Amino acid sequence: MSLIVKKFGGSSVANAERVFNVANIIIEDYKKGNNVIVVVSAQGDTTDDLIAKAKEINPDGVSKREMDMLLSAGEQISISLLAMAIEKLGYPVVSLLGWQAGFVTDSKYSMARIKRINPERLLAEIEKKHIVIVAGFQGLNRYDDVTTLGRGGSDTSAVAIAASVKADVCQIYTDVDGVYTADPRLVKKAKKMSEITYDEMLELATLGAQILNNRSVEMAKKYNVELEVLSSLQNKPGTIVKEVVNVEKMLIKGIASDNNVSRVSIIGLEDTPGIAFKVFNQLGKRNVNIDIILQSIGRDKTKDITFTVQKDQRKETVEAIEAMKQSLKFQDVVFDDSVSKVSIVGAGMETHPGVASKMFEALFDAGVNIQMISTSEIKISVLIDAAQSERAVNAIHDKFVD
Ligand code: ADP
Ligand code: ASP
Ligand code: MG
Repeated sequence: MSLIVKKFGGSSVANAERVFNVANIIIEDYKKGNNVIVVVSAQGDTTDDLIAKAKEINPDGVSKREMDMLLSAGEQISISLLAMAIEKLGYPVVSLLGWQAGFVTDSKYSMARIKRINPERLLAEIEKKHIVIVAGFQGLNRYDDVTTLGRGGSDTSAVAIAASVKADVCQIYTDVDGVYTADPRLVKKAKKMSEITYDEMLELATLGAQILNNRSVEMAKKYNVELEVLSSLQNKPGTIVKEVVNVEKMLIKGIASDNNVSRVSIIGLEDTPGIAFKVFNQLGKRNVNIDIILQSIGRDKTKDITFTVQKDQRKETVEAIEAMKQSLKFQDVVFDDSVSKVSIVGAGMETHPGVASKMFEALFDAGVNIQMISTSEIKISVLIDAAQSERAVNAIHDKFVD
C-alpha cells in the first residue's frame, strides 16, 4: 500500500468526459488499496477567462487581494466536479479548498509562498479511507484571506502535499506524456526524456518551459520528492525528475523559450561610479525582477544600460526610471516588448567548451540576430526578436539533438 499524490492540470479536467477520465485514473490506484490525494487546477482556460472578467470591471488593474478571491474560484469548481464524478462511480471522496487542506501562505497576494501545511485534516480523511481532492494554487494568509501561488501554482501545491505527508510518489499529469528536449508544440522533433535531474528541470522551468512550475521543482529538490510527469490521456510511463540520473550525459538537456520578457534601455546615462547601484536599487525597492543586464561603453562620458524584466513589470519599470530623471541624468528610456529569451540547459556544458559558439552558429545559420547574451554554469540564454523565437528554438534543437 502506498500514499500517492496525483496532480491534474487544467486540460486534464477541461470537460465532463475528461473529468471522468481522471476519476477513473484515481479509482484505479485506490482500488489497489493505495491512499490517494489529488490536486487539481481550474478547468481548461478558466483562470484566463476569470482574469478577462476582472479586466472588464477595471482595466486599470484590480487589487491583488480581490484578484486572488476571484481566481481561487476556478479550482473550487474543478474539485467539486471531480468529487461528484468519483461519487457517481461509487467511491468515497471529499473535496477540500486550500485552507481546508491546511495550506498556510505568506501575504503576497497573487504570488504567495507556502509557509507550511497543517496536514491533520488531510490525514484524517485518509484515515477514513476517503479519496481526497484538493484545490491547487491556493492557500490562506495570516489575515485569513485567500491567496494564490502564481500561475502554474498547482504543481507546487501537489509537491508541498507530497512533502508534508511523506508520499511515496508525486505524479503530475498533463497534456503531454513527459518532459521533452524542447516544447513539443514548437519543436516537432523534440524528444521525450525518461529522466532529468532536479537542477536541470529547475533551470528549464525557470527559463520558460511551462511543463512544471519552477517553485514546484525547487521544493521537490529540497524535500527530495520524486516527481513523475505523465499524460492523463495516454497510459504510459512519463519522465522522472530526481537528484541523479543514469542516462548518458548529453551536451545539452533541453531548450526553453520565454516570451514574457521586455527589454528596457536607459540611454545616455552619466558615466560615473554608483549609477548602476542607483538604478537597480530603486527597481529592487519596487520588487522589479531584473534578468539579463548589459552595460555598454558610451561616448562623451555617457553610457547605456540595457536589461530585461518580465513583461507585466515593464510599465512600472519605465515609470520608476522616468521618476529618477532629476537625480540620474540620462537622455532617454526606451523599451521593446516583442523580444524572446531562448536558452539551452545542461549540466554537461560545464565541462565542454564550445557549446556557446555552437549555439551562436545555429542562430547565425538561421539568420537570427542576438541582442543580449547571458551565461551560467549550466545554461546559456540569448535575447532575440520574438517573431524569430520558434525558428531559433528549432535551429538550436537541430544543432544539438539528433
Ligand atoms: P497543465 O495545465 O497540465 O499544468 P501546462 O500547459 O501548464 O499544463 O504545461 C504543459 C505544456 O507545457 C505542454 O502542453 C507543452 O506545450 C509545454 N511545454 C513547454 N516546454 C516543454 C517541455 N520541455 N516538455 C514538455 N512540454 C513542454
Ligand atoms: N489555474 C492556475 C493557472 O492557470 C494554476 C495552475 O493551473 O496550476 O495558472
Ligand atoms: Mg501547468
